[in-house]
Amino acid sequence: MSCKNILEKLIKNGKLTSTLSKSKTKKTEVEEFQKILHQLGFDKELKWANYGADGYYGGSCTKAVKAFCKKNDIESDGSTVTKEIAKSILLRYDILDELQDLHLDIKNNSKKLNQIYRRGSSHKGAVASLQTLLNALGYGRKLNWSKYKNDGAYGKSTAAALKGFMDKHKLAGDSDELNIQSAKEICKILGQKFGANWHENSKADTADVANSLVDFSASNFQGKKVKADINFIDSLTKINQYAKLNKVKIHITSSWRANAKVAGAIVKPAKKSNHMAGHAIDMNIVFVGGWANSKYLKRKNEAHWDSSVAGFINAIRKDKDLRWGGDFRTQDPVHIDDGLNIKNPKEWEKRYLATQQD
Ligand SMILES: [Zn+2]
Repeated sequence: MSCKNILEKLIKNGKLTSTLSKSKTKKTEVEEFQKILHQLGFDKELKWANYGADGYYGGSCTKAVKAFCKKNDIESDGSTVTKEIAKSILLRYDILDELQDLHLDIKNNSKKLNQIYRRGSSHKGAVASLQTLLNALGYGRKLNWSKYKNDGAYGKSTAAALKGFMDKHKLAGDSDELNIQSAKEICKILGQKFGANWHENSKADTADVANSLVDFSASNFQGKKVKADINFIDSLTKINQYAKLNKVKIHITSSWRANAKVAGAIVKPAKKSNHMAGHAIDMNIVFVGGWANSKYLKRKNEAHWDSSVAGFINAIRKDKDLRWGGDFRTQDPVHIDDGLNIKNPKEWEKRYLATQQD
């Protein structure tokens, strides 16, 4: 289980504050929590060099939580982790990769920055990162986040969001590209929400590397057997719940796909398909009295959908972890995934390698 999952699990089962509070008992959950604080850069407060993740919520852990809260405008002495604190930590944790990437781009690549981050750029992963950061800075409306999220396409909305940021911080230049001053300001402002070492500690050092491709079956799934990355199972379970609630069956036509071109050596494919990382399914929807295939599911037919089909698709749309392919610019209405390839390209790579090797 990854560090992040521990925090989400404790929120869900209501054991957050009882588990993460100052105590003389050593706990695995505290160990995982300390790793998160370390990744967020609170090494000094944690006395990380001396203790590492020791599983004790003592003085150092308290100091780290207190420091985090101060930076994120939460009133707390750090002796216990409330839901508000945990949620704020998760929000920061979610943008850490993107922030670190931008920081590295500034450091290594400053002259080329405006070639990567510019209108019409083909560097979708980098643009998606910029969109995530602008959203975290409060420019979601300008980005049209609720509709496009971090889709990696640098167009009018991204330029408008960046312009909003540049105006607010009195930065000169053209918002059709990201210049070095603006990039630095983004890192500076968001970096203030993290500990001093935020740009040094990679998630990969402490992340869960247990990898596997697993079989999945559920009450409302039929058709081909589903193979998926173990990290996609929670999403599949949700998809099944949505199907159940709306009284439809999901007829699977495809899920995890082997990269046919690889024999022996694992080569990174040109296009990061979520199918190849086990984070996508293709399906038809079976409802009472009908069968919804790719033609039926086209967005333009939406007004004529059976209410159960509409209910199911809208449940996927409302779930912030899932995407329905019918909403893509190039429609793919039989496809559902979690957008791992653009939300977190590095994690995609890891899960691709893990599942293709299995
Ligand atoms: Zn697909």
